[in-house]
Amino acid sequence: MPESHLFTIENFYHFAKERKLMAAQCDNCGTLLVPPRPVCTNCLSKNLEWIKLKPKGKLLTYTVIHVASPRFQSLAPYAVGIVKLEDGPNLPGMIKGIEPENIKVGMDVLVDFDTNIPAEWPMWPRYFFRPS
Ligand SMILES: [Zn+2]
Repeated sequence: MPESHLFTIENFYHFAKERKLMAAQCDNCGTLLVPPRPVCTNCLSKNLEWIKLKPKGKLLTYTVIHVASPRFQSLAPYAVGIVKLEDGPNLPGMIKGIEPENIKVGMDVLVDFDTNIPAEWPMWPRYFFRPS
């Protein structure tokens, strides 16, 4: 992975495939960027480094999707939510391993990884949330 130092969404998913939830941390102001961006959104610094986040958080909000785009329709109904990670940032993603009617705002979730995704779907988020 010769370009692993680049703070791209592709590298973020590449790390997820290795079951690592990685953020770019700004050396200047400490802001955590997840998914990563090449420039700090807070102070515009380009001095960033990869750090591994704890795969834990609390569910802030969620929506149950009944009608999805064709690629995801076979999964419907499914829930997507925003999780406040223990390390601070908010992360959107799919919620699995629980019936949608049992999902509760504020519940503890873990970030898990799906490593069996076909390579031709590079933009698929390879992480998901499940109840802890
Ligand atoms: Zn910064």
